[in-house]
Amino acid sequence: MKPFHETRQKIRAELESAAPQRVFGSGWASGVLGIGLSLAGLLLVISMRAPGQLLAVPEIAPLQANHWFKLGVLLLLVGGFASSIVSLALREAKILGTTGVLLALAATVIGQSIVTANAAHPLPIYFGLDWFALNVLFTGLIFIPIERLNPHDENQPIFRDEWREDVFYVLVSSLMVQALAFLPQNPGILAGKLSALGSVRHWVGSLPLLVQIPIIMFAADFFQYWAHRAFHRIPWLWNFHAVHHSAQSMDWMSGARMHFVEILLIRSITAIPVLALGFTPLAVEVYVLLAYVYTTLIHANLGWRLPIIDQLLVTPQFHHWHHGADKEAIDVNFAIHFPLFDRLFGTYHLPKDQWPTSYGIEGHPVPKGYWAQLIYPFRRK
Ligand SMILES: [Zn+2]
Ligand SMILES: [Zn+2]
Repeated sequence: MKPFHETRQKIRAELESAAPQRVFGSGWASGVLGIGLSLAGLLLVISMRAPGQLLAVPEIAPLQANHWFKLGVLLLLVGGFASSIVSLALREAKILGTTGVLLALAATVIGQSIVTANAAHPLPIYFGLDWFALNVLFTGLIFIPIERLNPHDENQPIFRDEWREDVFYVLVSSLMVQALAFLPQNPGILAGKLSALGSVRHWVGSLPLLVQIPIIMFAADFFQYWAHRAFHRIPWLWNFHAVHHSAQSMDWMSGARMHFVEILLIRSITAIPVLALGFTPLAVEVYVLLAYVYTTLIHANLGWRLPIIDQLLVTPQFHHWHHGADKEAIDVNFAIHFPLFDRLFGTYHLPKDQWPTSYGIEGHPVPKGYWAQLIYPFRRK
């Protein structure tokens, strides 16, 4: 165990190394990219290999048999391998490059027996390991470069304080994607069947997709706004939501930090009325994906100045104020799509070109680490 622990510490120290050791040409970026691509490839191969599609979400599982998907995974591994080799050539410390090469090789070995892997009947339960890999891969490839190009806090590194905890949040909610999708949706569909809105539902369901989606955004944000305010106002709900507000660094990973119970409650509160109103499942699915990317964006470390747009849509600056530790930032900006709701209900706060001085909750009452935060709301205060 000890050598493993030491290796982990070394990798972590390398990832978190100070700015001068991360400059272009130091082999740091290629090493990180190499590990990222190889790890994503390895996790995808494992999810393709797992019997009964246990580690694949049903939307992705059929894709895994597709040649293009396999080619994509192969390219990931080749890219990860090549990038790691570049890092090995450039960087004095070899741990990043070596890890990337080993991950790519492990994936290749495991991948040898893919052919028959997914033939078995799907199991009734699944864990979204493939979803985790694709999710972090794509959001990372999009958001890391745009955060580097236009950061709000230019001194904040990619591997900032508590980055491992936030990756773990993404991992858990990706693995638990079945429960998280099933629990809010089924009562929603049931509410729809029972609802007395027959003709309204029919009319809503017949609207074109591109019309349904903005209406869903509007309706969902309205319900989300009030649920969010309740989470701030009611003490036992606040204990759950405080976990989300415990983040002291804002970036594309910060939004993932959310207590399991809160995810279920917030999703149910927004999904049940939306589904009861008769929006089609496809429109709701597109919205869920859109909302996912949107929440990643508004937490991101982005210093964008967006006059006019910021009057109509929630921007990173707007949601950063919601996370501010400053007095003026307490209980403001509850909307996640439309600032209009905060204007209407008196919680709007967006001083021109100003940002919070720091993030988190005064006194930092929430402990660090995933498991401590999981039990935090249930502890006697
Ligand atoms: Zn909040
Ligand atoms: Zn947030």
